[in-house]
Amino acid sequence: MSEKVENVIIIGSGPAGFTAGIYTARANLEPILFTGHEIGGQISLTYEVENYPGFPEPISGAELVERFQKQAERFGTRLQYELVTEVDFKTWPFVVKSEMGTEYRAKAVIVATGATPRKLQVPGEQEYTGRGVSYCATCDGFFFTDKRVIVVGGGDSAMEEGIFLTRFAKEVFIVHRRDQLRASKILQQRAFSNEKIDFIWNTVVEEILGDDQKVTGVRLRNVKTGEVTEFPTDGVFIFIGHDPNSALFQGQLAMDERGYLIVDRYQHTSVPGVFAAGEVADHRYRQVSTSVGQGAAAAMETERFLAEVEDKGYQEVAREMLGEPAPLRV
Ligand code: NAP
Repeated sequence: MSEKVENVIIIGSGPAGFTAGIYTARANLEPILFTGHEIGGQISLTYEVENYPGFPEPISGAELVERFQKQAERFGTRLQYELVTEVDFKTWPFVVKSEMGTEYRAKAVIVATGATPRKLQVPGEQEYTGRGVSYCATCDGFFFTDKRVIVVGGGDSAMEEGIFLTRFAKEVFIVHRRDQLRASKILQQRAFSNEKIDFIWNTVVEEILGDDQKVTGVRLRNVKTGEVTEFPTDGVFIFIGHDPNSALFQGQLAMDERGYLIVDRYQHTSVPGVFAAGEVADHRYRQVSTSVGQGAAAAMETERFLAEVEDKGYQEVAREMLGEPAPLRV
C-alpha cells in the first residue's frame, strides 16, 4: 500500500468526474481521477450534444469529453487510465484499489461511475450505436426530424422518450415484448392518445440492419406467432432500463433497491467524506449539465470537508455529519 495519503480520489471520467477534477485541482487538492476503460462514459457515445450551455453549435460527445479532460489536466488532475476494483470506506483514510493491484489511500472520495443503458444485445446494435441506434432521445431526437423511428421498451422511459420523439419524428413505433405496458397509467394514456405513436405488441428486435453507414431497418420477431419481418426505420431508440455502476460499493454505501447511491442535496453519501455525483446517484435528470453541476457541488463539498477534517479531525467531523458516533475504524 502506498504510504502517501491523497486528498481526494475521483472514480469515473464522465461529465461529473471531470468537473470534480477541474474543481478539486483548481483548489490545489491534487486529485487523482480513475478513468475506467471508457473515458467519458455515456456521453462519448452521443453523436452530438446541443443542449449543453456555452456551445451554440452542436459538439460531438467525444469532443466534449476531450475538452473536459484537457481542462481537468490543465489544472493538474492526475489521470489513472484504469478501473477501480475495490474500495474500503469502513476505514479512514479510505482505501481504493486499482486493477493493476495498487492500493491508494485518500481522505475523500468522489464517486462518479455513472450508469449503463441496458443493451438489447442483438447483432447490429453495437455497430450502429451513434449511427441510428441511440439510448437518449433528448440527445439525439432532433436528428430524426421527419423520419421514422422505433422505440424499444414498455416502461416509463420508453413512453416518455417516445412521446418526446414525436416532436421531431414523423412516425414513432413502440416495440414491446408483451401486450401490456409496464409504464404508469398516465404515461400510457399520453402515448395511446398521441397520433404519431403506434404500438407493435408481443414483438422483439432480433437484429438491427444497416447499409454500413447508418440504420435502415430492424428484423422483428413476434414472440406469439414466431413470424419474422423486416421493418424499415431510420432510428432505433432503446429504453429497456439503466443500471447504475454501483456494484463496487455494495455493502459500503447506502443505495436504493435499484442500486442508485443515496445522496443528500449536497451530494453526500452515507459515509462522511465520500461524495457521489452524476448518474450513479441520479436516475431523474441524466443530462450533461446536471451531472456537471453535481460534480462541481461534490468537489466543493470535498474542499469544505477536508478543511474541517484538518481543523477537527475525521472522527469529530463524521460525528457532526452523521449526528451520532462515527461507525468507523479510524
Ligand atoms: P423499466 O421500468 O425497468 O422498464 C423497462 C422496459 O423494458 C420494460 O417494459 C421491459 O419489458 C422492457 N425490457 C427490459 N429488457 C428488455 C429486453 N431485453 N428486450 C425488450 N424489452 C425489454 O425501465 P425504465 O422505463 O427505464 O424506468 C426505470 C425507472 O425509472 C422506473 O422505476 C420508472 O418508473 C422510472 N421512470 C419514471 C419516469 C417518470 O415518472 N416520468 C420516467 C422514466 C423512468 P417488461 O415490461 O416485459 O419487463
